[in-house]
Amino acid sequence: MAATIFSKIIAGEIPADILYDDEQILAFRDIAPQGPTHVLVIPKKEIATVDDVAAEDTELVGAMIRVAAQIARDEGIAEDGYRLVFNCREHGGQEVEHLHLHLIGGRTMSWPPG
Ligand code: AMP
Repeated sequence: MAATIFSKIIAGEIPADILYDDEQILAFRDIAPQGPTHVLVIPKKEIATVDDVAAEDTELVGAMIRVAAQIARDEGIAEDGYRLVFNCREHGGQEVEHLHLHLIGGRTMSWPPG
């Protein structure tokens, strides 16, 4: 898998507004926020897309969701609700080929997506 901008954030080579950091997971604010809160939760392991998540990654992806939920509580948006999104490849609107979970909240969102 080619190194992405997220690999550089993990390596500390480019700055990010980091909210959570452990051995396996990093979370930081999106540079182009789509709501009052917009955080990206990523695995430090290089996984390109949701389609590349293996059985051995099940616990890791579950932990990503739990980190997102904790950040939502910390940001004060959990009670009103929020959206968690994995974009996958071109039709899903994925631009960075490193698995990432979008946490977006702080405003009402419509459904279905455009
Ligand atoms: P996606 O379209 O699902 O691949 O989402 C990629 C997201 O990464 C977009 O919402 C971008 O705004 C965000 N992004 C790109 N570069 C950076 C960066 N250096 N720091 C924080 N977020 C970024």
